[in-house]
Amino acid sequence: MKRVTVIGAGTMGHGIAHVASLAGYDTILQDAGVSALESGLTRIRSTMEKGVSLGKLELGAMQDALARLRGVSDLAEAVAEADLVVEAVPESMELKSGLLQAIEAQVPDHTILASNTSSLSIDALGSVLAVPERFLGLHFFNPVHIMALVEVVYGPRTSAVVRETGVEFARSLGKEPILVKDSPGFASSRLGVALGLEAMRMLEEGVASAADIDRAMELGYRHPMGPLRLTDLVGLDVRLGIARYLHQELGGEHFRPPSILERLVEEGKLGKKSGQGFYDWEAP
Ligand code: NAD
Repeated sequence: MKRVTVIGAGTMGHGIAHVASLAGYDTILQDAGVSALESGLTRIRSTMEKGVSLGKLELGAMQDALARLRGVSDLAEAVAEADLVVEAVPESMELKSGLLQAIEAQVPDHTILASNTSSLSIDALGSVLAVPERFLGLHFFNPVHIMALVEVVYGPRTSAVVRETGVEFARSLGKEPILVKDSPGFASSRLGVALGLEAMRMLEEGVASAADIDRAMELGYRHPMGPLRLTDLVGLDVRLGIARYLHQELGGEHFRPPSILERLVEEGKLGKKSGQGFYDWEAP
């Protein structure tokens, strides 16, 4: 595998293109928006420059990576010679399905298609493809250049070769892949969201303050960050969306979104990005 195309130059897509170009792949980053594409490329360059200034990245490695990286707006041109296409567009079944079909119509037969979806069914997404065997989930974590985990998600129709190639690709980026069967929330979100929702219910019941619930996990269980602070960073709206989806797919009271989460989202308190969530991010 030599050529990787990433579709969507936002938070995740630019990060995936960043690590792919550093790992030696000829990398194309594509986005439907011209300014989004430019800002994705700028973010890659500035993150790499910061890495060089901190002594974490060799100047030569950055220059080589940037020479291998190209931004392309046209979808057909972006995927025409790709060995692997990873889509990282917003979390919508409709959007991703349509895009995957359009990509499949433009790529060579050997090209592997992957989605960075954090919750949608790989089997359902793959079902729109003529060759679903070539499709899998590659679930990266934010920020991609720092987080080691990649969930390699295989559906019932993903071929064994494609699954193995996904694992090898993640390793070639210096990541730690885990193999996960296609199921709602995969391995990470299902556990992480369950913990977060229970923390919210404890807050509602007045068991302890948000800071103390977080401290319980940070100091008692060595989590690097408590579940409520993490929800503020991820975005309360994002977590609510995943909770609703898991509740619908898996049932169980533990996935029912707590009323405090519904209320905060209704009030526009979405966490760090809006300045207010379980914590006040505007306070000094
Ligand atoms: P984002 O909104 O930051 O970026 C999405 C990009 O896709 C935007 O630049 C947008 O212009 C572009 N886009 C939209 N429609 C397009 C199209 N048809 N063709 C090409 N580009 C298009 O989103 P994100 O946070 O990077 O999330 C992308 C995916 O990664 C989602 O499936 C999300 O669930 C998943 N994910 C996100 C995170 C996270 O922490 N943000 C973590 C893991 C997985």
